[in-house]
Amino acid sequence: MSRIQILDENVANRIAAGEVVERPASIVKELVENSLDAGAKRVEVQLAAGGKDLIRVIDDGSGMSAEDLRLAVQRFATSKIQAAEDLDTILTMGFRGEALPSIGAVAQLQITTRQADDAEANSIMLRGGSIIEEGIVAAPGGTSVEVTKLFYNTPARAKFLATTATERGHCIEWTQRLALARPDVAFKVIHDGKVLFSTAGRGELREVIAAIYGSNDARLFLPVEARDGDLVIQGYVSSPRLTRATRRTQLFFVNERFIRSSSLSHAVMAAFGMLLPSGRQPLCVLHILMRPEIVDPNVHPTKIEVRFSSPGQVHMAVQMAIEKALADAGLRSLESSSRMSMQRRDGDFARPRPAAGRWEGPAPDATQKAKRLRVNPFAESVDEHEDGLGVFAGQPGTTSTQPRLDVNAAEDAEALGQLANTYIIAKSGRDLLLVNQHRASERVLLQQLSNNESVITRQLLAVPLNLELTPSEAAAVENDTDELFRLGFEFEKFGPSAYILRSIPTALVGDKYEQAVLEMIRELAEWESAPSRTRARAKLAATIACHAAIKANTPLLAGEMQQLIDDLLATDTPAVCPHGDPIIVSINADWLDRKFGR
Ligand code: ADP
Ligand code: MG
Repeated sequence: MSRIQILDENVANRIAAGEVVERPASIVKELVENSLDAGAKRVEVQLAAGGKDLIRVIDDGSGMSAEDLRLAVQRFATSKIQAAEDLDTILTMGFRGEALPSIGAVAQLQITTRQADDAEANSIMLRGGSIIEEGIVAAPGGTSVEVTKLFYNTPARAKFLATTATERGHCIEWTQRLALARPDVAFKVIHDGKVLFSTAGRGELREVIAAIYGSNDARLFLPVEARDGDLVIQGYVSSPRLTRATRRTQLFFVNERFIRSSSLSHAVMAAFGMLLPSGRQPLCVLHILMRPEIVDPNVHPTKIEVRFSSPGQVHMAVQMAIEKALADAGLRSLESSSRMSMQRRDGDFARPRPAAGRWEGPAPDATQKAKRLRVNPFAESVDEHEDGLGVFAGQPGTTSTQPRLDVNAAEDAEALGQLANTYIIAKSGRDLLLVNQHRASERVLLQQLSNNESVITRQLLAVPLNLELTPSEAAAVENDTDELFRLGFEFEKFGPSAYILRSIPTALVGDKYEQAVLEMIRELAEWESAPSRTRARAKLAATIACHAAIKANTPLLAGEMQQLIDDLLATDTPAVCPHGDPIIVSINADWLDRKFGR
């Protein structure tokens, strides 16, 4: 690392200066970033009372000379940039030379540091911005920074600190973001003597994800790996089975810096399309690596936003990378324009989508280029025999050896036979498809229902059912008579609020349908606003489709199988059912070639 210098006024003025010290977590962030910039491989964060009483960050990085230590605590003193041009190619976390002096101004700051080759460590203590102690001490190589008496000289700000639990939560959250940014660095957070978070620093991103979300949820993350020129997108995205109500857990890193971006969240949502359950958001940890010249981190006081010189390219690259990751896992979502209307809930999918399949996986050298990060779908912390997905064949290996469904390949397929009276075996180009017949049939029925086709067979009731309804229930039946008829329920008006039910879906024959019918009517009546009624109808359609669909353990004739496959591939999302479960598992012949060592 080059020596610390004071930036000249001209450069200093170009820096988007900001308040660095807002709360303990902002100090943790700044200190850990300094450790990472110093090349640390291990970083330990010690906290007392959520960081309000003590923050100590210890690293095994480069350390500082005595001279640099004195400079480090001055404003605009940095070893990371020198001239204004350097702002164009920033790869370090820091560059403003502000953090240490800002912290030293509002707290007591003690820094102890030793360079590996130096015999002794140097120590400096500041309070309220002035040096109150300096000396030579014995200490291991690296740097330890201790912050106490936070806001002692600004009591008004001290009052705004939240409870220990809240401040602790923010400190851990920031450390976790930095650990996701740098899976190659071992992190540890110790709070009041207890280890609350730690990572091994083996470079496996999925291990860090497991340390944060638990290993069960970590299994539900799909690897993302793609590139567009020298833009590399790597990381993980959750399968549709693991979702959250908010975007808070969509984490983006640009050149290893955590950033917020609603545009990138939008790209992720666009890739998922209707693979997601209503109102849910996928989780992701996505690294975007690009030439530093085409991204500006100097636009926000806490550097949590960046400006891309071509935001459109980044948006599209992320969207396609996620689409590819989903497709590799046998999940695909097609054109938004042809999506079933019942699933379209908001304006999220309004953007025209790029043609699928243009995206290429990274060349081997890109993986090298992707620096310290390895994305391995079968990383150690994950038990490959139960990855919980069902779409991988469970073979350990790299991304490129997974069985996968090519986005374009399965436009048509030939049914070959049936396995266990439950799965249809088909081939499509060089893909072998294993199709879950029940889910496939359910998907086909739903699609046909949403196209207003009458596909549900009706059974006339030998003894029609007389129904006395409340006025709102009667109104619901009246409003939805056609829809209910398509679903197999034939109602006939029999007075102001009485109806006769003449038929039910054949699939329900034999069940105790009376109660179910009344519940269905009640549900339809309950929803007054148009969108929620649409949802109630969609739910009803899904229930009927599930009942009416071909069951598992049902032998099928060759023609029936082919028909089902043809119908399935004609739907918008043949590979996944509305709950996000896979319908098709595929194995590619290329993968088999490799398996057989050809
Ligand atoms: P910046 O990170 O923007 O350069 P800081 O005020 O955070 O500014 O740090 C000032 C300088 O002190 C850094 O440029 C770096 O040279 C040095 N420094 C700070 N923390 C460490 C550390 N943990 N290890 C080695 N050097 C450090
Ligand atoms: Mg810094």
